[in-house]
Amino acid sequence: MLANGLTTYEYWDLKKVSIPSRSRLYQLEPIGIGTPLVESLTGYISRLAEAHCVTPKALISKELVSFIPKTYKTTNLFEMRSLTGAVNGIGTMAFDLVTVLESLTLHSDLRFLTLLTWADIFPQRKLLRSKRAWCPYCYEEWYSTKNKVIYEPLIWFFEAVTACHCHNKFLCQQCPYCQRDVPPLASYSRPGYCPYCLEWLGMTVNYPTTDKTQASKEEMIWQTWVIKTLGELLATSPRLSQPLSREIVAQAFCRYVQQFSEGNTSAFARMLKIPKNKVWMWQMGKVLPELNVILKICFTLQVSVLDFLTQETVKVNSQHCPSIPQKQVLDSSANKLEVKFDLRRTQHLLENVLQTNEQPLPMTAVAKSLGYPKRVLYRHFPELCRAISAKYVNYMKESRIKRIEYCCEEVKQAVRQVHTEGIYPSEAAISRLLAKPGCFRDREVRAALRTARKEIGLEP
Ligand SMILES: [Zn+2]
Ligand SMILES: [Zn+2]
Repeated sequence: MLANGLTTYEYWDLKKVSIPSRSRLYQLEPIGIGTPLVESLTGYISRLAEAHCVTPKALISKELVSFIPKTYKTTNLFEMRSLTGAVNGIGTMAFDLVTVLESLTLHSDLRFLTLLTWADIFPQRKLLRSKRAWCPYCYEEWYSTKNKVIYEPLIWFFEAVTACHCHNKFLCQQCPYCQRDVPPLASYSRPGYCPYCLEWLGMTVNYPTTDKTQASKEEMIWQTWVIKTLGELLATSPRLSQPLSREIVAQAFCRYVQQFSEGNTSAFARMLKIPKNKVWMWQMGKVLPELNVILKICFTLQVSVLDFLTQETVKVNSQHCPSIPQKQVLDSSANKLEVKFDLRRTQHLLENVLQTNEQPLPMTAVAKSLGYPKRVLYRHFPELCRAISAKYVNYMKESRIKRIEYCCEEVKQAVRQVHTEGIYPSEAAISRLLAKPGCFRDREVRAALRTARKEIGLEP
């Protein structure tokens, strides 16, 4: 009780409440950060636009444009179509859009929806595909599962990823309704839908049902490994204290060369069937190998890409290290051909090439006509290939000699003819009479001209 008889009751605290800053755009939660199936930034932009009930074009042109550098403002970004894949990549476009979107959504982890963490490790070439690829089975599954959001995983954008390991099917790259390729980000992009005809891209009867959609067992072994190792990289990105630096690639090569072949770069290169100078350049840090090359190397060494780059201790698996296991599943066309390589038949064909009396061909042409890469033929039949090549070289030498003899004779006759007509037998005058005017490029033919002039007393 106060002295004047008044009581202080419980009262409202009227101090101004500090409200945390609000984001300009919805703070839409990105999907799967820290997991192999993390969302892509292009997919996030599409979902963000959808959340605001606008098209990505409207979102970008009305909200992001003032923050985006001039070079790819609004419509320009969409005109570039295939280049919109760079939004998920390692360059300026990815960096700029991450910065803009982080400031507008107040999310601070959007760079993990791109490959920016790996910007110093992987060269841009052959890293990400320029078109969208998707698994219609995944879409369909997410669509019919309660509380599942339809989105675009970043892993689908890797050029090396061509299949879905959950469904053992190749990813689709063409809309089954309008048959168009779909760019990573378009004016009307929406996860799970075609931006052109706006149809649903989940599994429908419209997809071709040929065997081509079904990945073979070998391809699945390779794809499962690629997806696992790339998924590990994506999942690790947020856990790294800072992005990895370029030097670790060279250090990794030095470590592996030391461990696998006692520091002998040639032996290591031979084991991987890679030119020695390439391995040397990587070891020296002069160039960075493309992602698909690192994948093949790591597959051969049976080590994940992450362990290859970051583990100080090299695990030598003697069962696997001497040769490339499962080489038929590597994604180069050359290796695919080797699977079906019919040794006996090819040898027979090469012997025929060597024995035939027809005009000899260079090994490049022979390889092309047989449908195999030249280096594959050389590897299996080095002697036959060298003999074919030598036959061609001899033929070319003989042809040259014959051609020059013919030209010299032609020049001799032309000199006499021109002289009898009272014209000086200059190179130009003679050239006009020759079947092949380019003859004078050969010094033997020029010498023949001088001799012919001498014979008629025109030269000392
Ligand atoms: Zn799938
Ligand atoms: Zn379509």
